[in-house]
Amino acid sequence: MGQQTITAVHCPNCGSLAERIYSSSRRQTRTQCAHCDYLMVTGEGGDNLVRVVESYAPGIVSRSPVAVR
Ligand SMILES: [Zn+2]
Repeated sequence: MGQQTITAVHCPNCGSLAERIYSSSRRQTRTQCAHCDYLMVTGEGGDNLVRVVESYAPGIVSRSPVAVR
């Protein structure tokens, strides 16, 4: 059985609220953002090095610039 710890974080890509899920059984941390599809999976090696297993960062969705009035 794997235990998961979910932490609320800010997405490094778009700054929205994302979630970081740590799986103790896999020793992997998964950060995912529902707002921009950002994904980052890192795994801990036996030597305390953290390796990127998988990452995906979409381009920041272009939004209409805030009109300055
Ligand atoms: Zn995001």
